[in-house]
Amino acid sequence: MSQYSNVSPTSFFLDEENRVLYLSWTDEHESKHDWERLRWACPCAWCAGEGGVPGVLASKKSLSREETTLINIEPVGRYGLTPVWEDGHKTGIYTYEKLRAMCDCDECRKKRS
Ligand SMILES: [Zn+2]
Ligand SMILES: [Zn+2]
Repeated sequence: MSQYSNVSPTSFFLDEENRVLYLSWTDEHESKHDWERLRWACPCAWCAGEGGVPGVLASKKSLSREETTLINIEPVGRYGLTPVWEDGHKTGIYTYEKLRAMCDCDECRKKRS
């Protein structure tokens, strides 16, 4: 069992000014996710590739503003979330575990370093 297997997000907040997503969790953690960083980490087959075939992100050097603007968050079952991006992309499923592992808050960054 992983350390995050019993937690789930309770709410989210889109900070449009700083382009950051905040998620509140059942263990009272508030995770922080830079939109652009989140988009670069999109795990879907189109972005990240599949079966040895590289995804589109592998050949990109930058992303457009639409591609990195988060407009909504949709729950996926009881294990993940799908960010909905302004360019219409919404096939990436970010598991709770992945989200917690990539949390950008000071506390988590300290723990990882
Ligand atoms: Zn994707
Ligand atoms: Zn954190």
